[in-house]
Amino acid sequence: MSRVRVLTLNAALGPLDYRVPYGMSAEPGSIVLVPLGPRQLAGVVWEPERMPSDAEVGDNRLRNLVGVYDLPPIADPLRRLIEWTADYYLAPPAAVLRMALASASALDDRRTAIEYRATGVVPDRLTPQRAQALERIGERQGLVRELATIADVSDGVIRGLVKIGAIEAVEVSVDDPYPLPDPEHAPPHLSEAQTAVANVLVNDVDARVFAPTLLDGVTGSGKTEVYFEAVAQALRQGGQTLVLLPEIALTEPFLRRFEGRFGHTPVAWHSGLRQSQRRRAWRAIASGEAKVTVGARSALFLPYRDLQLIVVDEAHETSFKQEDGVHYHARDVAVMRARFEGCPVVLASATPAIETRQQVTLGNYRELKLPGRYGVAQMPEIAAIDLTEDRPERGHWLAPTLVTAIEETLSRGEQALLFLNRRGYAPLTLCRHCGHRFQCPNCTAWMVEHRLLARLQCHHCGHVMAPPKKCPECGEEDSLVACGPGVERIADEVAELFPEARRAIVTSDTLWSPAKAAEFVGRMEAGDIDIVVGTQLVTKGYHFPNLTLVGVVDADLGLQGGDLRAAERSFQQIMQVAGRAGRGTKPGRVLVQTHDPSAPVIAALIAADVEGFYEAETESRRDAGAPPFGRLAAIIVSSEDQREATDVAQRIGKAAPKVEGMEVFGPAPAPLAMLRGRHRMRLLVHARRALDVQDVIRSWLGSQEWPRSVRVAVDVDPYSFV
Ligand SMILES: [Zn+2]
Ligand SMILES: [Zn+2]
Repeated sequence: MSRVRVLTLNAALGPLDYRVPYGMSAEPGSIVLVPLGPRQLAGVVWEPERMPSDAEVGDNRLRNLVGVYDLPPIADPLRRLIEWTADYYLAPPAAVLRMALASASALDDRRTAIEYRATGVVPDRLTPQRAQALERIGERQGLVRELATIADVSDGVIRGLVKIGAIEAVEVSVDDPYPLPDPEHAPPHLSEAQTAVANVLVNDVDARVFAPTLLDGVTGSGKTEVYFEAVAQALRQGGQTLVLLPEIALTEPFLRRFEGRFGHTPVAWHSGLRQSQRRRAWRAIASGEAKVTVGARSALFLPYRDLQLIVVDEAHETSFKQEDGVHYHARDVAVMRARFEGCPVVLASATPAIETRQQVTLGNYRELKLPGRYGVAQMPEIAAIDLTEDRPERGHWLAPTLVTAIEETLSRGEQALLFLNRRGYAPLTLCRHCGHRFQCPNCTAWMVEHRLLARLQCHHCGHVMAPPKKCPECGEEDSLVACGPGVERIADEVAELFPEARRAIVTSDTLWSPAKAAEFVGRMEAGDIDIVVGTQLVTKGYHFPNLTLVGVVDADLGLQGGDLRAAERSFQQIMQVAGRAGRGTKPGRVLVQTHDPSAPVIAALIAADVEGFYEAETESRRDAGAPPFGRLAAIIVSSEDQREATDVAQRIGKAAPKVEGMEVFGPAPAPLAMLRGRHRMRLLVHARRALDVQDVIRSWLGSQEWPRSVRVAVDVDPYSFV
């Protein structure tokens, strides 16, 4: 009799054993359908010795596999990656496997899907909801549920529109082949230095060996053109490439650059895909037909058939760290995947993270440097504006020096960018009469005013409310005042100062889809925008030759809160946004507004002393035993009941093992003491580099029990300290 061990998609269960019926064959990696209670669900056959089961079932009690999918098996390197990720990040292996199988629909082998789209027939009388739905859906199509989400209405509203003929069903093919990018389509003209670096990468791809490389060069130095040559080599060899980007908003400009070089766009993978697109992409990736995939971090776990190159672009970005579910860091997992696949991995960055620099210092990663900016462009000059002397007018946020600089820029017909990493109009609303502050009922956070949407919103849980006419505390009318600026408020100030100038606000509220991002890029390039006001979304990836002035509205903002990477992150962010200025033939200028020009971060920026900044930062981390010189892990205990969260956290704290080289801090209320209605307590584990902290935590928490209403999440190598 033949039995197999199957890891199912149910994260609450361990691996289960099944019988392979006569005539069926299932190897490790095979994607199978298994019975579980009255239901059936998908899973992957695993080597039993690598996936121990704590409930061995006798042969006579085994149930039969239902079937084996006609899909390529999950290959050995990906199975090893899933094991490694589960082990390192203390996550259930099934939760990691889910990211590889991506969605149950990917397994569905029907060749068509039914989607819905507007017919253009608009009935005479429409309810406000139906009107809203039709307006928001526009040209888009998708499943009923997808359209309902886009339109922010119930499924019933969409079905009602189908019934009256305003929306129709269409059949779409999900196995149309993807066009093949052509490595010889438009080879670039590289400088001598670029060619030398590109050749090293091309040789790595050719040799098919694990080779981690930091590709380091200032913004505008041509990193993309250089790693494209490695992509071209993988294409020539018939292999697959994965390019990871930190933000979905960057996908669109990337696709266009890629198309310019290779004649066709690559396969895109991100959360904005429709189910049918997701299915088509997954199957093409698994069959090896999708040669180049560009995607957000979730693309990392897809079942590439013949992966020959991984690129992590903007590798320093903290958005590569997943903050819920499996708390993995895509940059680090990308390196592990490359190791298991035996292929090169390129981490590209103008401002590499200290963790990455340390790997170079240790000799684990090779560093390739690109000198200067490509072509005639020069790095912009950075100067500080001391807000204690050069003060903005009352109730305003832009200093006279910055206003003058914008004026000069506009008069030359050039574009300006104002950067403030804060969405909305104002971060805090209070009552001028009684001092009442609007706080989210579910979180320890202020409600942020969004004037464009006419509402107050919590940025942590999404709770919204209409801005009240009178104070809910004292009842005073028209007493509410906005405190501090968000990008919308800066845009208002710009409108007041430069009424003729054409403005754009760029945040995740306005650029929420690749199409919106593409529209923005188009308007910038056509010169239809004079002044951009944006959050970190505009700091990277874009290339606008006519953008010559960057104003950083509040350089002190990122330093508040003070987690261990605050200074590094501020430095990277301002360097990145500064890199948007003067990318063409015209020189760029960067003005940084601050209350403390002598702060080390600001001083280093102005002196353009990148190495000095990193050295000082690295030393202080070393002194503190902070990452990458020591290790951290956060244990977050949460419950809707504050008492319960506190009790369990204290019990876990008391049970902390005494281990040489490890300290446990807390429990203490997490900085975000309440989030989405749950009270949160935090323990922080600090350990020596060499200590197997996962192993310690695994047996420590394994010995503890807590009620189902309590959640205990472990974040290994945490990036967020809220
Ligand atoms: Zn009041
Ligand atoms: Zn909230």
